[in-house]
Amino acid sequence: MALRLHNTLTKKVEEFVSRDAGKAALYVCGLTVYDHAHLGHMRAAIVFDVLRRYLEWKGLQVTHVQNFTDVDDRIIQRAQNEGVPFDEVTEKYITEYRQALEALNVLPPHVEPRASRHIPDMIEMIARLVEQGYAYYAEGDVYFDVTKRPGYGKLSGRVLEDLRAGARVEPGEFKRHPADFALWKRAKPGEPNWESPWGRGRPGWHIECSAMSLKYLGMGFDIHGGGDDLIFPHHENEIAQSESYVGREPFARYWIHNAMVMVRGEKMSKSLHNYFAITDALRVYPADAIRYALVSVHYRKPIEVDEERFTDAARAVERLRTALTSVDAVIASTERGDGSGPASQQLDAAVQRSRRVFEAAMDDDLNTAGALAAIFDLVTEMNRFADEVQRGQIPAAQVLPGMSNARETLKEFTGILGIIMAPISIDEKTKESLLAFVASAGDELVPGPLRERILHEKERVVELMVEAREKARVKRNYAAADQIRNEFAKAGLILEDSPSGPRLRKVPPIGSNAPAGGGDG
Ligand SMILES: [Zn+2]
Repeated sequence: MALRLHNTLTKKVEEFVSRDAGKAALYVCGLTVYDHAHLGHMRAAIVFDVLRRYLEWKGLQVTHVQNFTDVDDRIIQRAQNEGVPFDEVTEKYITEYRQALEALNVLPPHVEPRASRHIPDMIEMIARLVEQGYAYYAEGDVYFDVTKRPGYGKLSGRVLEDLRAGARVEPGEFKRHPADFALWKRAKPGEPNWESPWGRGRPGWHIECSAMSLKYLGMGFDIHGGGDDLIFPHHENEIAQSESYVGREPFARYWIHNAMVMVRGEKMSKSLHNYFAITDALRVYPADAIRYALVSVHYRKPIEVDEERFTDAARAVERLRTALTSVDAVIASTERGDGSGPASQQLDAAVQRSRRVFEAAMDDDLNTAGALAAIFDLVTEMNRFADEVQRGQIPAAQVLPGMSNARETLKEFTGILGIIMAPISIDEKTKESLLAFVASAGDELVPGPLRERILHEKERVVELMVEAREKARVKRNYAAADQIRNEFAKAGLILEDSPSGPRLRKVPPIGSNAPAGGGDG
C-alpha cells in the first residue's frame, strides 16, 4: 500500500513518491530559541517524528533535518533584557528543548543546523538573488522583491494586490512593495552581526531555512514540514527565494502542516499567554500520556488540551501497559505452544485484521486516531484470551504462538506512534521526590554504589529502586525493604511480589473507566 499525504501546495491528498528511490528527505522548521518550548512546539515535533518513524517502517531511509533559529529579534531582545550574551540564551533553551524531546520519545533529527553557524551560506544565496535582480539593496538592508516572482502566493493562496493593501511598512524600512521581505538586516547597536557585501548585519528569518534545507537536502527535497501558522509568510517566502535562487521548481515536493494546539478555543501561543511550557506539563503529567494525547488526534485537526485530555490519555496508556503485562505473564507461564489451538489461530487472525486497518489508516494521510483504534481492537482480543487462560478456561499452551505474535505486533505499532510503554511511567514531580529519597538514604537503606548509580541514571530511578528493595529483601533487611515500598506507595505505586519477581503497578485513579479506544476529538 502507498502512503498518501495532504500537500498544502496542491491542497490535495497525494500519493507520496520520493525524489530518490528508497530515501526520504525531510526538513522541519524548528524552534526559535528565546523562551520555553510549549505543547504547540511539541505537537509539531511529535507529528513529524511519527511521519519519520512511519516512513522508516515503510522501508525508506529518512534524512531528517530540523533547524534551530538562533538569530532572531526576540532572542536579541531577551539577551539585552537579561544582560547576557545571545548565545547564552539560545544554549539554555536548546538544552531544555532537547531534554523535553527525549522525555517524549522523539527521535533526534539527523542534522540540527543552527542559523548562526550558516551565515556564509545565507550571504551566498542573498548575493546571487541580488545579482539576478530578485533582491535589492536599500540603506543597509536587502529585500526580496516579490513582484519579480511570478506565482508568489502559490502555497498560501495569497494575492499580491491584497497584500499591498494589507501590509504595513515599518518606519526605517525601505521596501518597494509592502510584501517585500528582508533577506539581510543592517546591524543595530548591541546586536550580534556579521560582515557581508552590504555591510555588517544579520540574516532575515526566512533565508535561514532556505539556506539550511538546501545545504543538507538539496533542491527538490521530499517533505517540508511545520505548523500551519508558518504557511504565510515564512514558507511562502522560503519557496519564492529558493526557487528564484536555483532557477527551477520545486523547492520541496510535499508541504505538510500540522494544526495548532488550542486552549479553550484559542491557539496556544506566547503572545496570548495561554501556553503550558513543556517543562511544566512534564511535571504534572507522565510523558507517555502527553505523547499519547498529542498523537490521538489527526495532525491536521486542532487539538484542544485540558485536564481531561491528559487523564484520558494516561488511562489509555495504562490500558496498553496492563495488556502487555498480563500477556507477558501468560507467555511466561508456558512452554512453546503448538499453534493447533483455535485460540492461537484466532489471535493470528486478529493480528492480520489489525495490521490491515493500522496500515490503511496510516496510509490515509497519517490517520493516527484510526491507527490507535486498530491497536485497541487487537488489545481487546489479547485481553480476552489472557483472561480465559488466567481463569483456567483454556491452557496457556493453546494461545501460543498467536499470543506472542499479537504481543510483537502491539509493540511494533505503538513503536511507530512512539508511545513509550515503559514498564511504569511517572511524572517529573514523582521522579524528583523519589530521587530526593534516594539522595538522603543511608547505606543501610540503599547501598552507596547503587545510590550513586541511581543519582546518575535519573531516568531509571523507579527500576533501580526496585532493585534496591530486592537487595534489601534478599539480605533479610525487611525494615529497609518496607521503607522503600512505602516510598513507592506515597507516590501512588504499589510494589507486589509476583512469582516472576517484583512488579510495580499504579494505584488506579478513582472511578476510572477504560477508554473505548483511540478517541479522536
Ligand atoms: Zn523555517
